[in-house]
Amino acid sequence: MMKPRLVIGLAFVAIILVMSGSTSITKAATAEPAELAPTEALQRLLEGNARYVSNRPEHPNSRPSAAPQHPIAVILSCSDSRAPSEIIFDQGIGDLFVVRVAGNTYDKMLLETIDFGVENLGARLILVVGHDQCGAVAAAVKSYPDPHAGEMIRNIYPAVKDAKDAHGDQGSAAISINAILVAARLAAEPQLSHLVAHGKLKILPARYETATGRVKILGGE
Ligand SMILES: [Zn+2]
Repeated sequence: MMKPRLVIGLAFVAIILVMSGSTSITKAATAEPAELAPTEALQRLLEGNARYVSNRPEHPNSRPSAAPQHPIAVILSCSDSRAPSEIIFDQGIGDLFVVRVAGNTYDKMLLETIDFGVENLGARLILVVGHDQCGAVAAAVKSYPDPHAGEMIRNIYPAVKDAKDAHGDQGSAAISINAILVAARLAAEPQLSHLVAHGKLKILPARYETATGRVKILGGE
């Protein structure tokens, strides 16, 4: 006859085995969703933006959730209080991996953050969202080419330089050019370029119109 302590011990082991078995079943039943392809992610964002613009938002995923996250896109946008990504794209908790900095440029730390959203969380679309009336771009236009301006401002200088040749409103041109240049720069980063080359990641520039709420993809897409 087994000693009571041994019986209890075996029962404990049996419970653990049952629990671990049920855990793997649960995992199989709720397998991680397939990564959303770049074009599908873009479509979902544009549909969400259309709902926002026409004042028919669905406010999806609007309750607290501790479920694992599978954001459909990384959004690099300006910190401007009129351009919150979840609202303008009508998305919710767990949908977007958002990096915000005035002027929507990036440095080493933000690049690591963006890369985390792609490599670790499986986002297959990066949207660089500039916006009209951007105070950071306006400040860069004013400071250019002062080398003593802060990094946030100097990061926008390449766009200001290119906008000098643009027709019409140079400040406005600099906003679009900045988003285009930042998207191109990101696509050339070694940790992202191989995914872009294989069609597994799309990096697109976009512009948000504060008056209407509309997001337009720049470059004709
Ligand atoms: Zn801005």
